[in-house]
Amino acid sequence: MLSKTVSDILREADALLLSKFEHSDAQYYLRELMHARELDLYTQLDNYMDEDLNKEFQAGITRLLNDEPVAHILGYSWFYGRKFKVDHNVLIPRSETELLVEQTLIEVKDYFHHEHLDVIDVGCGSGVIGISLKLEAPQLNVDMVDISTEALSKTKHNAERLYAEVNVYASDMLSVPQLNHKKYDVIVSNPPYIENDYELDASVSNFEPHLALFGGIEGLDFYREILKQAQGLLKSPGLIAFEIGFNQAEALHFEIHQYFPNAVIKVVQDYAKLDRMVFALV
Ligand code: GLN
Repeated sequence: MLSKTVSDILREADALLLSKFEHSDAQYYLRELMHARELDLYTQLDNYMDEDLNKEFQAGITRLLNDEPVAHILGYSWFYGRKFKVDHNVLIPRSETELLVEQTLIEVKDYFHHEHLDVIDVGCGSGVIGISLKLEAPQLNVDMVDISTEALSKTKHNAERLYAEVNVYASDMLSVPQLNHKKYDVIVSNPPYIENDYELDASVSNFEPHLALFGGIEGLDFYREILKQAQGLLKSPGLIAFEIGFNQAEALHFEIHQYFPNAVIKVVQDYAKLDRMVFALV
């Protein structure tokens, strides 16, 4: 029974999702399913919906209504124009983190007068930051570390799929690089920075790894740990690039100066004009 058009189906799904959430992922989800079938959503709107496609779409909508993130239903997420595989073992990359990559590339160009820099991405998760940096600036030497072996296998998988030549190590923060006595020009990280008692949406708290989200009572534990370990690991000059929570800039100023009293610090905002990144030249 082919009585509904793509546009009818989309409208129904939107109505369902918007009765529960502020935002509907129906259109994005359908567009991704159609892309996989090499169809263009906008030229299909008045066509009858294919039955198999509709079955898959409806199953996905049910999962979305159950708070499951669209990235888990698809099994991937887009980041800096590339497709990264994700699952429940890694943080789903956020668009704010694309800004961290973009701005880090700018800062690196401004600060350093040579190109072959040693960079380490701490808490790499799915691998989006380090892999994107390597693919955008192939002259960088990029090491990536995470404590979670499941996350590391995602990083490795994504690096292989995207042909990014990065080195991946299992490490509790910077302990392994320390053992190797290697020094870095740039430390970049989007560490877990949410305050432990912050109440997250069910789609985040039920589906994303808490290990990748929470950073202690004030959300600052991992910044402190990285800064402490960075003292012996950064070359001079060295650059620290952190993603931060919108209310953490002042605390980060303080923390960075505890470990690097002469650091020159720059805070950069996201598109919503919220403090989102901090760069420290030390
Ligand atoms: N570096 C990864 C990202 O930014 C993972 C970050 C994390 O797990 N806190 O998506």
